[in-house]
Amino acid sequence: MKKIVIPGDKLATIEEYIIKEGAYEDKQGFIRSLYLGSILIDPIEKNLAVRPLKKLKLIDIGDTTIGRISNFSGIYAYVDIFVVNNNVMDRKFTGTLHPPRYRNNRDISRMYKFGDYIYAEVISKANRTIHLSIEKKEFGVILAFCSLCGRALVRDKKSKKVKCKVCNRYEDRKLSTKYGKLL
Ligand SMILES: [Zn+2]
Repeated sequence: MKKIVIPGDKLATIEEYIIKEGAYEDKQGFIRSLYLGSILIDPIEKNLAVRPLKKLKLIDIGDTTIGRISNFSGIYAYVDIFVVNNNVMDRKFTGTLHPPRYRNNRDISRMYKFGDYIYAEVISKANRTIHLSIEKKEFGVILAFCSLCGRALVRDKKSKKVKCKVCNRYEDRKLSTKYGKLL
């Protein structure tokens, strides 16, 4: 049996269970939770425990992220991150996307555009900022939209570009090998 409880929640009476940990007995003889946590009941031993929930794991170097380009500043793009290591996050994080170093000209408008979905790796957390890279092959744009009509672009194998089937035109992106497969 596993249920989430908050501090002070009435869990049972002292006639029903013995407190093992994470709970207390109030003056009325009720067992109440000490933590935001999960309640564990042993029906044979008649034990009750509340185990505190672990704090949300923060984003770490090497984690993979999925997010959307929300802004630009010089050579950097800002990304609203909503998936980390395949888990949807319950709050918003913003990452700073660094342009790939191997590109001589740093014309980032040919690599990603506002509104593109990208798959990126966390490379640093310096200055309390999540720094993202799409340098490796698997990282890059995973879904992009036509600059003219806004429709989703499809990957064109021959040109290694993305194509709008409606406008019949091609656009450049630094594509992830997972383009069209993650979202
Ligand atoms: Zn189009």
